Amino acid sequence: MDVAEVIESHRKDEKKMAKVLLHVCCGPCASACEPALRDLGNEVVMFFSNSNIDTEDEYEKRLANARALGAADGVEVVADAYDHADWLEKVAKGLEDEPEKGSRCARCFRYNLSRAAAYAAEHGYDAFTTSLTVSPHKVSRMVFDAGADAAWGVSAKECGGSAAPSPKFLEIDFKKRDGFLKSLRRSAELGLYRQPYCGCEFSRRGADEENVVK
Ligand code: SF4
Repeated sequence: MDVAEVIESHRKDEKKMAKVLLHVCCGPCASACEPALRDLGNEVVMFFSNSNIDTEDEYEKRLANARALGAADGVEVVADAYDHADWLEKVAKGLEDEPEKGSRCARCFRYNLSRAAAYAAEHGYDAFTTSLTVSPHKVSRMVFDAGADAAWGVSAKECGGSAAPSPKFLEIDFKKRDGFLKSLRRSAELGLYRQPYCGCEFSRRGADEENVVK
């Protein structure tokens, strides 16, 4: 479903989806997603959680671009802690040679979206979603499965006694309705840096071989 359909389906039978945490992989991808969510009347906060990025310099560069988008649109950006060593241990170990769109990426989505789900639960958000689906290099179904797992993980913890309501994961395919094209235009307009690889060192290796921009 596209963004309007997903939000509308939640509004029909449940409380208004007012406060949405948008996990952002980078400023350029977020530049098509954050305005789309706000246009539908949601309060949006961007959550930059990307320990998959291979170096601290690259992480800071992408974070600065997400902040530039936030400043341009008047949207808050929350930066999660950066811990690439933990990501390597929990996500990439044993899957270093997997191709993009393979099982390392599925774990990577789950890692970042679990952090977004936990933050959303702790801070009283109604829902969370992610900019990852705007990229044609990402399989939206894999992202949705990771989001559902992340939301379920938070719900499972809540069964242990927390009274906080569980945030829902919104399955929004941001690449629909020319989402990717919109992200290209908006990031060019704002002069945002578009990285030449997905994020981890394994994707950098692939991009160096293909010389593609992601
Ligand atoms: S290629 Fe991208 S999505 Fe896949 S594991 Fe690396 S950083 Fe994560």
